Amino acid sequence: MSAHEEISGSGRDAGPAADDPRRAWAEVVATARRTTADGLVVGTSGNVSARVGDVVLVTPSGVPYDRLGPDDITGVDLAGRQVIGDLTPTSELPMHLAVYRATDAAAIVHTHAVHATAVSTLVDEVPLIHYMAAALGGPVRVAPYAVYGSDELAAHVLAALDGRSGCLLRNHGTLTYGATLEQALDRTAQLEWMCRVWLAASTVPGRAPALLTPGQLDETAARLRGYGQRGE
Ligand code: 13P
Ligand code: ZN
Repeated sequence: MSAHEEISGSGRDAGPAADDPRRAWAEVVATARRTTADGLVVGTSGNVSARVGDVVLVTPSGVPYDRLGPDDITGVDLAGRQVIGDLTPTSELPMHLAVYRATDAAAIVHTHAVHATAVSTLVDEVPLIHYMAAALGGPVRVAPYAVYGSDELAAHVLAALDGRSGCLLRNHGTLTYGATLEQALDRTAQLEWMCRVWLAASTVPGRAPALLTPGQLDETAARLRGYGQRGE
């Protein structure tokens, strides 16, 4: 049975590649490669997934992204049972599945981005250094530490995501989700950039950065809803 036949018939529409798991897999692999190329992870750190109906395509555990090809397609159902492929899915499956079960996410990106990981060790919430926090739903929380791949970490992440599309994982990294892989990756890049700005500003001796108020962030959130080209 082909991968497509294996999962065809699932009813849920989940974005542009919803009816084409092979195309979605190509996008998952391309996104995972971008996390390495953009310096958001080193080696096989991090993981990427996309929801196609009731199946979640995930990067396999510990396989360098440049070695992944079309035949390495790896998929599980929302209970974590493998329904496509033979490679062992990412060790962070509990975290990915918890987010898909609880939100409208169609794609998830997890990285160990340098500045975001550094900030995760310093604060419980990313200080409101920039209005782009509004693009992630508000002030970005830091999920308490738990060992990677654990149900405990998944629960901490889910709590930290309440009302947000991204969070930090203490002493570990980032997680963002979106309606597309492109959106999830862009949110990671924005989060990493914002953490870098805060670190840069807060390390100036004798000075503390000015921060935005929650009201100023709400004002941005309203404006961002109309951001970009008309009709998009
Ligand atoms: P995997 O290679 O199992 O996806 O693990 C990488 C990682 O970042 C664990 O947190
Ligand atoms: Zn990780």
